[in-house]
Amino acid sequence: MDSTDKDYPVRSCVICRQRFAKKDLSRFVIGKETSDDKLISDSKKIMPGRGYYVCGSDKCQDKFNFFKPRKKKFRG
Ligand SMILES: [Zn+2]
Repeated sequence: MDSTDKDYPVRSCVICRQRFAKKDLSRFVIGKETSDDKLISDSKKIMPGRGYYVCGSDKCQDKFNFFKPRKKKFRG
């Protein structure tokens, strides 16, 4: 289902939801070695698993420190 992709893959920033070229985003995955859902940087974009992308905005990078991948309880 990525037929809309043209020359490059596009992903949405998990914080601001804007779309960016994948190469302009930082990719994070949930670390397998940790029991918690800690996100680790995947700078080479080669790690398996669900990827979380963040754009280069300072605001998004900052908020991403508090970003939690889906948990069982709802936020708030
Ligand atoms: Zn963003």
